[in-house]
Amino acid sequence: MRCPFCSHMEDRVVDSRASREGRAVRRRRECLECGRRYTTYEYIEERPLRVVKRNGEIAQYDRRKLLTSIEVAAAKRPIGAADIDAIVEEIERELDRSDDTDIPSGRLGEMVMARLKSRDHIAYVRFASVYRNFQDLTEFYEEIRELDEKSARSAMRRYQEELPLGAAAGREAERGAE
Ligand SMILES: [Zn+2]
Repeated sequence: MRCPFCSHMEDRVVDSRASREGRAVRRRRECLECGRRYTTYEYIEERPLRVVKRNGEIAQYDRRKLLTSIEVAAAKRPIGAADIDAIVEEIERELDRSDDTDIPSGRLGEMVMARLKSRDHIAYVRFASVYRNFQDLTEFYEEIRELDEKSARSAMRRYQEELPLGAAAGREAERGAE
């Protein structure tokens, strides 16, 4: 770090601690040339991921919204909080590997469905039926944000009433959306 007082390039860290609720590391540094102290903050680089709705509107990617939409679909299924975290981690890692910062909401939905499908078929069908019903994940977030968990589940049941929850249910859900 270049000293803000004398521009010397060498320093020593005299104190290092978590800051801003763990989202930053605060380091107190001492210049090896002039001995004056200054503070630096280290953050994880945030990628400005954005979700593009089907109508072209753009919203900031929101991890909490993605988690909630999966939690509702996975309610009372053998998919725990750790699995849901892992799904979101996987999706974010995949998005990090690509250079796109604008993610079509349809692609985000497909990424969730692909992962639910391999973990729990019922959660997959719930997610797919509601998601495809709304045709837009952002709309779905907004809808379920308004509901508590119990009414979210009964809303979900309404949306999937005509969908059989059997072995071919995934394909049924896809056909149902056409
Ligand atoms: Zn200095």
